[in-house]
Amino acid sequence: MYKTKKVKIGNISIGGGLPVRVQSMTKTETADWKATVNQIKKLEDAGCEIIRLAVPDMESASALSKIKKNIKIPLVADIHFDWRLAVEAIKQGVDKIRINPGNIGSRENIEKIISAAKKRKIPIRIGVNAGSLKILKKSGNWIKMSQQERAKQMVTELMENIQTFEDMNFTNIVVSLKANDVSTTVLANKLFSKKRNYPIHLGITEAGTEFSGITKSAAAFGILLNQGIGDTIRVSLTAEPLEEVRAGWGILKALDLRKRGVEIVSCPTCGRCETDLIKIVNRLERRLSTVNYQPSTVPIKVAIMGCVVNGPGEAKDADIGIAGGKGFGLLFRKGNPVKKIPQEKWIDEILRLLKKPNNPSAAADGD
Ligand code: SF4
Repeated sequence: MYKTKKVKIGNISIGGGLPVRVQSMTKTETADWKATVNQIKKLEDAGCEIIRLAVPDMESASALSKIKKNIKIPLVADIHFDWRLAVEAIKQGVDKIRINPGNIGSRENIEKIISAAKKRKIPIRIGVNAGSLKILKKSGNWIKMSQQERAKQMVTELMENIQTFEDMNFTNIVVSLKANDVSTTVLANKLFSKKRNYPIHLGITEAGTEFSGITKSAAAFGILLNQGIGDTIRVSLTAEPLEEVRAGWGILKALDLRKRGVEIVSCPTCGRCETDLIKIVNRLERRLSTVNYQPSTVPIKVAIMGCVVNGPGEAKDADIGIAGGKGFGLLFRKGNPVKKIPQEKWIDEILRLLKKPNNPSAAADGD
């Protein structure tokens, strides 16, 4: 089993066999610190454990201490091109810096960032993306490279960057190797995991819309996490950041790596279904996405099934289950039939049971 070095980011640690953490990135203008804090608070409630934000200019960098003071989760500054922004972000009190050394310029500039991070004892994530490799600037042959060659090149450039850090005795490092396709991302991360034990942040770059981004991320993260590779994840989506956090948790829950909130089990429906199950389950999922019904660390399984063929079996297996019939459903709690309820009351009844302080939780998260 691949075990990484433990790295502290603000008030949490990653790596070293700790639970895989869910990250996201703000989509507000960082300089608008109030809007940014508001967005981060919503993400915290949804289960975001580390938040990164873009620092494109000095105005944004200057807002970081105010943002930091008003949030609970570790704050990561994402810096491109200008080492001065990184140094200012470190001064402002961020918990980690993410840079792509390939666009920071000279080794001297990178060293200035490393020195500042060393003084404040904060980690730096070295992020190498397939689309911004140095080789791209030198050669127009990128298109002709196979996924294996691309992955190899990403790891080569990452290792060169790591060398600069290690030459300065800086090992407070997190890495990421991202591409916009699953195979290259998987190959690069697998290759790197054989070389060094720095914690790995997983992501797919430019993953696309909710559908495409979640599909690609789930495929890549599933392969890697199943092999013990990956310490933090971000599901990058062209969508609201809350969706990224929901998807991140969804993937970790599906892989049985973390437990949180409500898991909905429902049947696909078929010709035997006597209820409008698709509508009901979607409505329930929407209602559950609000934090009031989403206990922070307590996993609960809710099953809603379309008919009496497989319904009772699955419903019995859940903490709360409903096996549908024509216009009504049989409610189960922890495997025991409780009562019949009319279809239009299913959601309210489930939500009522979930809100009860003694809700039928199974176990707490293993953090
Ligand atoms: Fe069809 Fe009933 Fe199975 Fe749902 S539970 S898929 S309605 S047989």
